[in-house]
Amino acid sequence: MEEADQNFKTKKIETDVVKCPSCGGTMVFDPELQALKCEHCGNVSDFKKDFEVVERNIAEGFENAELVGEEEQVAYRCSNCGAEVVINSDETATICPFCGTSHVAKEGSFKGIRPQVVIPFQFGKDKASDFAKKWAKRRLFAPVDFKKKLEPENVHGVYEPCFTFDSDTKSTYYGRVGDIHTRTVGSGKNRRTETYVVYRNVSGVYNEFFDDVMVATNAKFDQRKMDMLSPFDRSRACNYEKKFLSGFFADKYQKNLSESWDDAKKIIDSRIRKDIENSLHCDEVDYLNISTTHTGVTYKYVLLPVYRLVYGYKGKDYGVMINGSSGKAKGKTPKSAIKVSIAVVLAIAAAVGLGFLAFALAKSGALDDFMAISRKIFTSFPLKSLK
Ligand SMILES: [Zn+2]
Ligand SMILES: [Zn+2]
Repeated sequence: MEEADQNFKTKKIETDVVKCPSCGGTMVFDPELQALKCEHCGNVSDFKKDFEVVERNIAEGFENAELVGEEEQVAYRCSNCGAEVVINSDETATICPFCGTSHVAKEGSFKGIRPQVVIPFQFGKDKASDFAKKWAKRRLFAPVDFKKKLEPENVHGVYEPCFTFDSDTKSTYYGRVGDIHTRTVGSGKNRRTETYVVYRNVSGVYNEFFDDVMVATNAKFDQRKMDMLSPFDRSRACNYEKKFLSGFFADKYQKNLSESWDDAKKIIDSRIRKDIENSLHCDEVDYLNISTTHTGVTYKYVLLPVYRLVYGYKGKDYGVMINGSSGKAKGKTPKSAIKVSIAVVLAIAAAVGLGFLAFALAKSGALDDFMAISRKIFTSFPLKSLK
């Protein structure tokens, strides 16, 4: 324990240097350089990243998780949207990255689990804005002028928290599954095909190792949002230190480690169920009881890079999230009333046109031919690729 404390102290002294050695300005993490850069004079200071990421054993107990240093981070609360964010204590927050307002107030020193791993931002706000604009181009119903709002000054970098878990699982199962068969019954005019289910009892053992099951811990960046923005480039993951947070926000985790482990078990359970069902090659499941034991469970507290772009358009707020390692963008855009009306008019025109065409064809007796051809076109057309 004493040794651990000592390591912690030396680390802290080293990471406290975020002031520019030449002008005393604040050094912030520059994603393009993957180094610290002085906001004031442009002085660049590189630092060593440690890619030897360590997993923590769950058996050591969640209560022994390392905490952030005294006075290392401060928490802010937004009175407009309720968001709680964390920044380095030697910086000041003047804007809320979630709603873009300045209704943020300091809550005090943040006490909580220290992040273990960080996937650093790989590009700056300019590029994030470009990714958002590219994404907006594909939004057909978005008004043209809203794209002007997707500017770098509306972009904020937020490290979103997540816990990842590894687990070696062993499951035993028993149940009853069914296979659908068909048979021909009756004779003459009553001859027909009917389907019936043949049930079989199943039981067995199923082993699977789960690596880095990601669990979201914050309502503003929940499981659905995280899955939507995934994957995050894990090859960039390195051990967390304060320097990565300099110039950025971090979202606070809301679910603690043991609550997150409960969520992880639910995710793992549903994957195991799916995998066992697939391995049984059946058409339906009558019931399936599975009991799973976890061994060698390890966890990491990881910060994921997410750019948030918030903007108001005609009195309403909209937001875009951009994966800070891949550029993948997701969000909501306003809909242009004119564009939507044009689409509706076109759709009606097409439907009316088709109606007239069918009417004309029916009159000429060619409707059956037309229907046959249309069917052929539609069945040979890969409809799935349209999605
Ligand atoms: Zn400087
Ligand atoms: Zn806010």
